[in-house]
Amino acid sequence: ISNDRCWRCDKERGTLIHMFYECDVVHSLWGAVIQCINNALQVKLRENPALCILGILQRKIGLSQQLLSLNRQVTSGSKHVVLSIFIRLK
Ligand SMILES: [Zn+2]
Repeated sequence: ISNDRCWRCDKERGTLIHMFYECDVVHSLWGAVIQCINNALQVKLRENPALCILGILQRKIGLSQQLLSLNRQVTSGSKHVVLSIFIRLK
């Protein structure tokens, strides 16, 4: 590795938050994931790094513990998918 630039967009530093969330290559995927969660759970989550990367809700949205757990599982699984896509894109 000759520099610290993101190897996908070659525009920004390749920090973890950039690679997981901010890079244009993956950011639209997170929008789709959050939209799916909103539709499935009938909530209005906004995409943000805490939710997408860590599965943390920044405010209470009145979900049961089961739905909160489901939300964490979906965001965690999506993180793996997003990274997998990010690595394989050419
Ligand atoms: Zn990038």
